[in-house]
Amino acid sequence: MGGRINKTEWRHSIPICLYKLREWTVEGSDGDEETRRCLVPVRFFKMWNSCQTEGIEIPKDPSAKAPILPLAAVEDPIEAMPEQPRIVRGGNRAFFSPTDDKIMLPRVESFTSAEEEASTRLHEICHWTGGSDSRVPRPHITEGYHYDLHQRGTEECAVELATTWIMAALGFEGETLKNSAAYIKSWVGHLREDDTGRAIFRIASTSQRIYDYLMPVEDEREEGRARAKSQVTGAE
Ligand SMILES: [Zn+2]
Repeated sequence: MGGRINKTEWRHSIPICLYKLREWTVEGSDGDEETRRCLVPVRFFKMWNSCQTEGIEIPKDPSAKAPILPLAAVEDPIEAMPEQPRIVRGGNRAFFSPTDDKIMLPRVESFTSAEEEASTRLHEICHWTGGSDSRVPRPHITEGYHYDLHQRGTEECAVELATTWIMAALGFEGETLKNSAAYIKSWVGHLREDDTGRAIFRIASTSQRIYDYLMPVEDEREEGRARAKSQVTGAE
């Protein structure tokens, strides 16, 4: 294979120990045979990661999937937004934190496809639009979101619907559309029965305002944002 351990990495090896299971029988106090077991170390050696070496060509894993990269088509409208969301990558959950106006997202490679990553990121960006008076303010994001399932259902349906429209406008209508439909269906079940009819209209109206804020036609951008802000008065 050639190559060698990088000089500065010699001291940073990983100790490996191989054990063997040893079994033997003894006579127990009641006269029956008892099996005893213990692990016996049989071999010690050191290992280094490939990144600690030089001159070694690491063969590619043929079963490895192509890396997931953010969808270029989704980057443009996000970059064109007047305000940029603060996105922090890490962990295994996606959510918007209104208290510090921050979106948490798992790393791109944690998603099963670029479309899924884009759809999840847009969903959280849609939540983010509701977290400030300068965007598409929705007070319920901070008031009652976590304990009022009707309010939360309204918000989740609205942002997922807006996400679906944005994804469709960008030309993505495949697997994520099915997932979005299932997600909306799961939250519609949490809407209060006595308010479901009106809530559907509020959801559609909120989705439209979010869409207008995030995806206006270039020369209608300011007009759309002004409309989105003016229509929010009185909305939940
Ligand atoms: Zn959500």
